[in-house]
Amino acid sequence: EGGLMKGKRGLIMGVANQHSIAWGITQALHEAGAELAFTYQGDVFKKRVVPLVEPLNPAAVIDCDVTNPESLDAAFAELGKVWDSLDFVVHAIAFSDKDQLKGRYVDTTADNFALTMNISCYSFTAVAQRAEKMMKNGGSLVTLTYYGAEKVMPHYNVMGVAKAALEASVRYLAEDLGKNGIRVNAVSAGPIKTLAASGVGDFRYILKWNEYNSPLRRTVTPKEVGDTALFLCSDLGKAITGENIHVDAGYHAIGMKNPEAPDM
Ligand code: NAD
Repeated sequence: EGGLMKGKRGLIMGVANQHSIAWGITQALHEAGAELAFTYQGDVFKKRVVPLVEPLNPAAVIDCDVTNPESLDAAFAELGKVWDSLDFVVHAIAFSDKDQLKGRYVDTTADNFALTMNISCYSFTAVAQRAEKMMKNGGSLVTLTYYGAEKVMPHYNVMGVAKAALEASVRYLAEDLGKNGIRVNAVSAGPIKTLAASGVGDFRYILKWNEYNSPLRRTVTPKEVGDTALFLCSDLGKAITGENIHVDAGYHAIGMKNPEAPDM
């Protein structure tokens, strides 16, 4: 029996619940026949993530807080016990204090700036360091970003700055790891209602705005983001690295509001 991802092993980091973009990505990869392992963030998420992923027969379901280097080391050590090689990692992790995902960017505190950068940007590099050692036959690393890295979006604030740094790190990682056949790419997803998104001020307005003004006149689903992540993890994407693919119904291509859009 075939399947695009038959025989490929990958780690998915960032499933919180069934609304997570990482869950849409999981579905795409599972349907294509990939063998999967998962990390979750501590006991609070364990209760939801373990029963969710169980039916997929995961190779491992591992606790990992990316702010803690020992937790990252332990997670990859666990993974090394069940797998002797790794083909892909999906990083779908971000965090910022929600009190600073509204109002003015200029008021961001140093503490929250550092925390947001650490979890939302540096953690991808920290994961790449550890994944590289297991990617003996090359591999694919995919992270999730948002258009707020490229242009100012209301309330996205410090997260936009962290995503800009994340997108730059994708290019530097692509150069460093390319010699070993490891590709590094980002998927820039349009807005989707998730736990993380609920922390962003006026999120429903942002969703509506995208629906009215994107070329496809709609928003996107986690599974659609997942299909592009699948493509990047598979051999179909094997000449693509350092790239950022927008899965946003075309919103990034637009320079002006749709004149036919309803008033908001
Ligand atoms: P989500 O809340 O389902 O996922 C965010 C995940 O980050 C959670 O699983 C959470 O446990 C994890 N996380 C946060 N801090 C962590 C830590 N210290 N250690 C380990 N894990 C930690 O929300 P989502 O929207 O699916 O977010 C996934 C990714 O997609 C994020 O990078 C987000 O910025 C990005 N993204 C989201 C949207 C959107 O509109 N929802 C759009 C573009 C990009």
